[in-house]
Amino acid sequence: MYFPILNTMKGYSIDEILFKKLDCWLGTRRLATRKFLNPLNFSIDTGIDAEVAMYIFALCTQTNINILKVKYVVECRNCNHICGKYYSTGDIPRKISCSDCGISIDVNEDDIKIWFELIQEPEAHPFPTTMKNVIEGVYDLGKQIASVHLI
Ligand SMILES: [Zn+2]
Repeated sequence: MYFPILNTMKGYSIDEILFKKLDCWLGTRRLATRKFLNPLNFSIDTGIDAEVAMYIFALCTQTNINILKVKYVVECRNCNHICGKYYSTGDIPRKISCSDCGISIDVNEDDIKIWFELIQEPEAHPFPTTMKNVIEGVYDLGKQIASVHLI
C-alpha cells in the first residue's frame, strides 16, 4: 500500500475495496496535483459514489489517519486569481483585494473553493525498481511521451 494508515478504516467498517481504491488513487497522483485533490475527481475516476467519496476524504482528515488536510481557496470572482489559501474557515478574511486585477471582494461562500491537500508522502512507488530496470528503454520513451503531453 502507498498509505498503510488507511487500514485504520477497517475500524470504521469501511469496505476494503473503497480504501484500497483510495490508496491507489492517492498514491499515483501527479506531484503537481497532490495539493489540490477533489473527492469528485476520485468519484469519477473510480466509479465510487460521490457522497461516499466525500465521506472517506473527510475520514482521511481525522487525527488518527491524517493524510489529507482541508484547504479553503478564495478565488477572485473577476479574474479567477487565487487570492488566498486557508486551512480553517476562521482564518478566511471577510474582505480581500485581488493582487492581480485590483478589485476588492466581500468574501462569501461562492468565492471559496474547498480542496484537499495530501500531507503525507506515499510509502511505496508505483513500480518496483527491478521492474523499472527491465523495461528501461520503453520506460524512458514513455517518460518522454508523457513529458510532451504534460506541457
Ligand atoms: Zn482579480
